[in-house]
Amino acid sequence: MTDDLNVRRIGPESAATVLEIVREAFGSRPPLDPPADALTETEASIATRLALGGGLLARLDGEPVGALILDAVGDAVYLRRFGVLAAARGRGVAGALIQAASEAAVGKPWLRVVAREELPATVAFWTRRGFVQTDRRSPYVELVRPVPSFYEVATPEDMRALGARVATSLRPGDLVVLTGDLGAGKTTFTQGLGLGLGVAGAVTSPTFVIAREHRSDRGGPELVHVDAYRLGGAAELDDLDLDTSLADAVTVVEWGEGLAEDLADSRLQIRITRMTSGADGDDPGGDDHDPRLVEILKLGPRWATT
Ligand code: ADP
Ligand code: MG
Repeated sequence: MTDDLNVRRIGPESAATVLEIVREAFGSRPPLDPPADALTETEASIATRLALGGGLLARLDGEPVGALILDAVGDAVYLRRFGVLAAARGRGVAGALIQAASEAAVGKPWLRVVAREELPATVAFWTRRGFVQTDRRSPYVELVRPVPSFYEVATPEDMRALGARVATSLRPGDLVVLTGDLGAGKTTFTQGLGLGLGVAGAVTSPTFVIAREHRSDRGGPELVHVDAYRLGGAAELDDLDLDTSLADAVTVVEWGEGLAEDLADSRLQIRITRMTSGADGDDPGGDDHDPRLVEILKLGPRWATT
């Protein structure tokens, strides 16, 4: 059974609930000197912050279990007072809150967070999620991650055009991880990458081979196209018998989520979903209209230039 997890936008009316979560979550950490700023918050101070930037509250089976406060500063949205109750950890609450914060941050290119350097586990929590350290003003460490971009893609041709456009920002050594159901458009997107990189040979689904290499016709990076669907695990992915080194190629992995992350410390994570169920006839675009939503998330130091 999956947990009933949801995240909602909140305002000052939720200050008491947020304060309780903050006190429990920050109170269970090792004591710091000076103490965590979060522990000086009161219901009134939380309400003021929520009135300014709003916040997010996660509920698990109806019970409040996690929260954060949004604070827009310049071209970034800071995630403040991020806390998840100890009893609810390991159940996807933190990931859902960060995802919702990304959605709430539209229009701002960066998510930022401040952590305490004395808590390496907290710093590691953020870096595992693609945040990169930018500033260290002892005892504070500031980390940043780009907000994802979303594209509505109407047709397979538009999907190839988007791939070709993304290809212009890629260089040797880059890793692209594609996720989405069977038929979502991962291979179609990769065809666009191939066009943009000017590689030889038709890009097709590499279902019967695990990886296919496409040399560039114009001296650019080679495209290594991997289908991880039938792959045993990350170890096998590391062992692909390729003629080229991944450092010299652009590597695209279909079905790579959970497998490809260890290949490189940075990656473009691209998630493709169908926007219509496909079956019903009320789609105003007509029968052939089957748009996709493409989310592009740039993770790791390679993409963290501010
Ligand atoms: P995957 O690699 O994710 O399994 P494919 O790219 O092989 O998916 O297949 C996607 C199929 O959906 C193709 O036949 C493509 O022509 C079709 N299609 C229809 N509409 C779109 C769209 N808006 N974007 C991408 N593909 C689309
Ligand atoms: Mg495919």
